[in-house]
Amino acid sequence: MSARILDGKACATELLQAATGRVAQCVVRGAGPCLAVVLVGDDPASQVYVRSKERKAAEVGVATRDHRLPANTGTDELLALVRALNDDPQVDGILVQLPLPRGVDSEAVLRAIDPAKDVDGFHPENLGLLMLGTPRFVACTPQGCMRLLAMGEVKLAGARALVLGRSTIVGKPIAQLLVQADATVTVAHSRTQALAEEVSRADVVIAAIGRPEFIRGAWIKEGAAVIDVGINRLASGRLVGDVEYAAAAERASAITPVPGGVGPMTIACLLSNVIDAAERRLGLR
Ligand code: NDP
Repeated sequence: MSARILDGKACATELLQAATGRVAQCVVRGAGPCLAVVLVGDDPASQVYVRSKERKAAEVGVATRDHRLPANTGTDELLALVRALNDDPQVDGILVQLPLPRGVDSEAVLRAIDPAKDVDGFHPENLGLLMLGTPRFVACTPQGCMRLLAMGEVKLAGARALVLGRSTIVGKPIAQLLVQADATVTVAHSRTQALAEEVSRADVVIAAIGRPEFIRGAWIKEGAAVIDVGINRLASGRLVGDVEYAAAAERASAITPVPGGVGPMTIACLLSNVIDAAERRLGLR
């Protein structure tokens, strides 16, 4: 079997095109969507992420407000900024780029964000709503994975799904979304035994462990769908996912590439969440 490539760039472009129309509707009703971006310190990867988020936002007409703070910014100062953004009626969404510098209480900062402006979906209230099956904001990467599965028309009801990784921002919310889509879900992590066997039983594999090509192609069940969240840079500079792509693509029915799979979806889903917030403010949803 040769897998269908689930093209994240194409799927993201479609979502961003829809976003442009939704932004126009908001503008007609009053004020367009606005995202406040908080970046602390000078971590090069974070700077790249923030730049690409702001570039895409500009493309679809979402305004951004930049808050760049020095690496020695303290928790109290950050909390004060978050509270000011919470109170600002012109700000629909607040994004605090992670990781925050060591010494900053990241938990406290994320919890201080008004849940109605928490477009990353990391606030406990939004995670709780997701758990209850009534989500307000679904975290962007998990949402992107589900949209890619939908694009590939992957059948989830009754399917055996394996999520590799149990982080709060990726693995756990994806597992929850798959449960709600009626899949039978197993969550694997660093203490899981006989991982290859777990993978070989799964109809749907979501890999989010951050280990380059750790999941061997030969483990993949014939006809399974594979979503590779991992982004790993090899010493050669090449980017690879958590799955051994070429060998897995021989066995899977559908697979996401790295790069060009989940990555572009994460930013598109973030902007979609910001527009959701603006639509709620304007009573459009
Ligand atoms: P974390 O480091 O927070 O979590 C990694 C998870 O993988 C943990 O649950 C860990 O288990 C598990 N794990 C680690 N090693 C193994 C192993 N050998 N076997 C089984 N499980 C293992 O990572 P994130 O969830 O933040 O990110 C995961 C990957 O996704 C990274 O490569 C990251 O770069 C990428 N990513 C991509 C995004 C995108 O837009 N495409 C967005 C966000 C992340 P345990 O809990 O036991 O420690």
